[in-house]
Amino acid sequence: MITVIKPGATEPQIQNLITWFEARGLKTNISEGEEQTIIGLIGDVTKVDIDLVEGLEIVDSVKRISDPYKRANRKFHPNDTVVDIGGHKIGGGEFQIIAGPCSVESSEQILSVAESVQKSGAALLRGGAFKPRTSPYDFQGMKADGIELLLEAKAKTGMPIVTEIMNGLHLPMFEHVDVIQVGARNMQNFELLKELGKVRGKAILLKRGLANTLQELLMSAEYIMSEGNENVILCERGIRTFETATRNTLDLSAVSVLKELSHLPVVVDPSHATGKRNLVEPMAMAAAACGADGLMIEVHNNPAEALCDGAQSLTPEQFDRLTKKVAKIRKAII
Ligand code: PEP
Ligand code: MN
Repeated sequence: MITVIKPGATEPQIQNLITWFEARGLKTNISEGEEQTIIGLIGDVTKVDIDLVEGLEIVDSVKRISDPYKRANRKFHPNDTVVDIGGHKIGGGEFQIIAGPCSVESSEQILSVAESVQKSGAALLRGGAFKPRTSPYDFQGMKADGIELLLEAKAKTGMPIVTEIMNGLHLPMFEHVDVIQVGARNMQNFELLKELGKVRGKAILLKRGLANTLQELLMSAEYIMSEGNENVILCERGIRTFETATRNTLDLSAVSVLKELSHLPVVVDPSHATGKRNLVEPMAMAAAACGADGLMIEVHNNPAEALCDGAQSLTPEQFDRLTKKVAKIRKAII
């Protein structure tokens, strides 16, 4: 349920109403927009007499929200959420590129990629330290050492870092990580999501599962947000369909749908969506054109030798060209 407050209501009047709702066992979520303040109510709203609330002097209207996601819902929070990562903002018209290798492989590799993608305009550095591989015999990532190397690259370049977590018990290792990624395979690891919801001061990049609906993605965001961490960035990374020409099928309509349903920023990962280097640039341009708030792109200094996802990794030169083309698209649509 949401209660829309009339413009001109005073702070003590609004506070009084919040206290009244909370006394009825409801959790409140306040969204102060430029035009209106909205009090979102979560819990058993059957105890609330809508007519009584609507009759209050400061209340403009009361509406029931039937969608199961509340905190992630745009009806609760009409303005776009802007997530600030060390001064780099994503959402509400602010666009950022996250780039780096699929996996951290060595100090030289991560530093070389970090420096080149930064020069081309990437704001954030990605790199997997814990890798969710289909086969247990494939490279599993450098784990804690990989995080150390990312932190070194962060110290040298100043770029905030993004890396994937697979187990809540690993959280202490992520203390200095700026954005914690939840991979597609863990989108519905609800215990992990709850743990990440308790984390403060870090953004969570939540990737869409291989076979998950957009409502399920928003429900997973809700798991994080309901524990108090509202810094969630959604990521469309392709879904599994009958098509085999690409690794996954990039669902670009997800960007528009998610932005309509939710206030959270939406980024697109054309690397995992297509699995093919030559498709990354056109799909990145398409994502920028349809209003994504950012991109996540895999870049490797030597894709042919990459320990993971070489076929979809761009060279630094290809990435540089992509950023220039994306910048042109951004300019054209603003
Ligand atoms: C990744 O970003 O490295 C990754 C494993 O992606 P996804 O979870 O989307 O497959
Ligand atoms: Mn990868």
